[in-house]
Amino acid sequence: MTATLILQAGKSGSLRRRHPWIFAGSVATLKGRARSGDTVIVEDEHGTPMGRAAWSPESKIRARMWTFDPDEIVDHAFFKRRVAQAVARRLGWSVLRGNQIEPAGERLLHGEADGLPGVIADRYGDTVVLQLTSAGADAWRDAIVAGIVQATQCKQIYERSDSDVRKLEGLEPVTGWVEAKGLHETLQQTFPQIDEHGVNFGVDVAGGHKTGFYLDQRDNRLLLRSLAKGRRVLNCFCYTGGFSLQALAGGAASVISIDSSGPALAQAKANLALNPHLDASRAEWRDADVFQALRDYHKAGEMFDLIVLDPPKFAPSAAHANQAARAYKDINLFGFKLLAPGGLLMTYSCSGGIGVELFQKIVAGAASDAGRDARILKRLMASSDHPVGLTAPEGEYLKGLLIETA
Ligand code: SAH
Repeated sequence: MTATLILQAGKSGSLRRRHPWIFAGSVATLKGRARSGDTVIVEDEHGTPMGRAAWSPESKIRARMWTFDPDEIVDHAFFKRRVAQAVARRLGWSVLRGNQIEPAGERLLHGEADGLPGVIADRYGDTVVLQLTSAGADAWRDAIVAGIVQATQCKQIYERSDSDVRKLEGLEPVTGWVEAKGLHETLQQTFPQIDEHGVNFGVDVAGGHKTGFYLDQRDNRLLLRSLAKGRRVLNCFCYTGGFSLQALAGGAASVISIDSSGPALAQAKANLALNPHLDASRAEWRDADVFQALRDYHKAGEMFDLIVLDPPKFAPSAAHANQAARAYKDINLFGFKLLAPGGLLMTYSCSGGIGVELFQKIVAGAASDAGRDARILKRLMASSDHPVGLTAPEGEYLKGLLIETA
């Protein structure tokens, strides 16, 4: 018997607006028994059915909606359908992106925005990397995998369910090759290579950050490339060289890239070697702390024409916002100080705890402290294969500004 989650009186408004999360404080009672990850029927205080959700007793987000249709059954076929729909939507966008029919690296499943809370899947050529972050998603692993195999005809799936947020759901980390019907058991290629706008990258699916690559910046890397010609570029927090290599492809005069991770820089250099058409003599890699390196360049009187600031998540939640704001302010302040007249700043925050408006305020404060006049040329967000659910705006974690200084 499927258990029924009954909401507190007056707590059904957000569900009616199709926000998919039910917080612990909104639950009146659970009628019947459910284990973590089980599907429950959701009813408001009058017994009106509102849909079906995944039960997660250890999380503050006590349940996540699978469907707002009370009659839709959540079974194997449900996940195959949802996965197939999400993949089909991407094919439409690929064509829209114009110059490449099918990008070699793309996000296939983007959690809530694809009606699959807690499910992330990225495709790197024939390889799919799967990340499950919620109890419900974890419980339906086999169905989700079967859906991916069927919809993509990929050869191998690597699971990277090692994100910290799993702890909040009472889940242990899970990593490794997925075994399932239709997959090539012997391939196990941990460094698939992708082609992003004509530039090659090796992706470390087992040891890299997230699922191995920051696909969310793909469109922004193409924008950077279109701006790079003849410019002296400084790419801060370069990871495996995504923005750096696109800057070289765009004809940058020089590209200095900084990261404090040795393995990331090693992969960045290996990636450059995969692209003999790029002029490696214009690239310099620095293993350094960005906060210190920016100060050193300022002291030395260095100047750049185009600076990228794409730091890690300084504020995972709103509770860290103050401390994070200081860190964002600091790097942006030095970014402005280091820009030559007419220079461009491409600056990002991927912190869920810092909203678009707050981020803009921080950057504005940095410009005025640096004594620079500046204007926004463009607001930036993640690539279109990382959509933001209109009814779940928390999904908009990545925000950026392209700024021109006087
Ligand atoms: N722009 C990259 C992604 C950046 S991820 C891309 O498009 O692929 C953030 C990077 O910041 C990581 O590689 C991490 O190693 C690096 N990092 C974190 N703190 C740092 C610090 N204080 N100084 C330098 N690099 C840092």
